[in-house]
Amino acid sequence: MYLPDFDYQSPGSLKEACQILAAFGSRARVLAGGTDLMIKMKHGLLAPDVLVSLKNISQLAGIGYVQGRGVVIGARATHNDLVNSPVLQKKYLSVCEAAHHMANNQIRNVGTVGGNIVNAVPSADLPPILIALNAAVKLVGADGERELPLESFFTGPNRSVIGTDEILSEIVIPDQTSTGSTYMKFGLRRSGALAVVGVAVAVTVAGGVLKEAKIALGAVSPTPMRAVKAEELIRGRAVTDELLEEAGVCAAGECSPISDIRGSKEYRQDMVRVFTRRALRRAINEGHV
Ligand SMILES: Cc1cc2nc3c(=O)[nH]c(=O)nc-3n(C[C@H](O)[C@H](O)[C@H](O)COP(=O)(O)OP(=O)(O)OC[C@H]3O[C@@H](n4cnc5c(N)ncnc54)[C@H](O)[C@@H]3O)c2cc1C
Repeated sequence: MYLPDFDYQSPGSLKEACQILAAFGSRARVLAGGTDLMIKMKHGLLAPDVLVSLKNISQLAGIGYVQGRGVVIGARATHNDLVNSPVLQKKYLSVCEAAHHMANNQIRNVGTVGGNIVNAVPSADLPPILIALNAAVKLVGADGERELPLESFFTGPNRSVIGTDEILSEIVIPDQTSTGSTYMKFGLRRSGALAVVGVAVAVTVAGGVLKEAKIALGAVSPTPMRAVKAEELIRGRAVTDELLEEAGVCAAGECSPISDIRGSKEYRQDMVRVFTRRALRRAINEGHV
């Protein structure tokens, strides 16, 4: 399998990159780690005339804490950058863990958080935990920039609100009151498997009561989704095993998975029930955010 011919551009600034994208429109594609794009090109599913590499845009690298904004993750950060980030390890270990359980070490070394989001694959591992943590994304285009909740970024499988001249530049996890969060992935193998079901939760617990809960599901609907009825059901109630099971049943009823080679609709729904209950218990018990 050979790559089709294309022009390669490697601008040094976001502004320049957006100008190239604007000039070529749908004939150009952003190239980050290439772990998805290159495969699609080799299989003849995509044949852009121009690839605009992010490799020389240093502004897109790095993970840090910015007072008043929260943890800011550059879109070019790789999965292993997330795993090894001291800031994330201290503030949101759940994000490091989600990244750690993705793919294999080779892919984690080059695949980026920006690519994982913009791909908009329903089974992607990072969107659920970032949505549970209330993350926002910044999109920079030739005519300006905008910031929106990650939750409203996705519009369908492989589809999102990003424009052809826009680049996802950063992901921002705002300061929050959560006392614990976690992402639990159910795949058909222990490593290197895509999620059959992914459940992320962030909880705020005080005095044995669930003050607040966010539950985000992956691989069980056309886009990552919040289980808002389950969140509502448990908000303000004392933590019991029965309550967490009720939340699982409720979340399973809220999603509409497809049946495919990796699992039937009914199986996926039952896994949502089980993993929502387990993820809530883990986030409540472990208490790390
Ligand atoms: C063997 C293997 C295992 C995998 N396992 C997993 C897994 O366990 N979990 C999982 O979630 N995914 C998995 N993936 C999918 C993939 O590796 C990830 O989604 C990865 O994060 C994609 O990032 P990338 O930087 O390689 O994106 P690229 O391939 O470079 O780009 C992907 C798409 O996003 C666009 N894009 C990239 N960055 C930006 C940006 N900043 N702004 C605008 N557009 C952008 C590109 O134009 C392209 O359309 C796997 C892939 C492989 C090959």
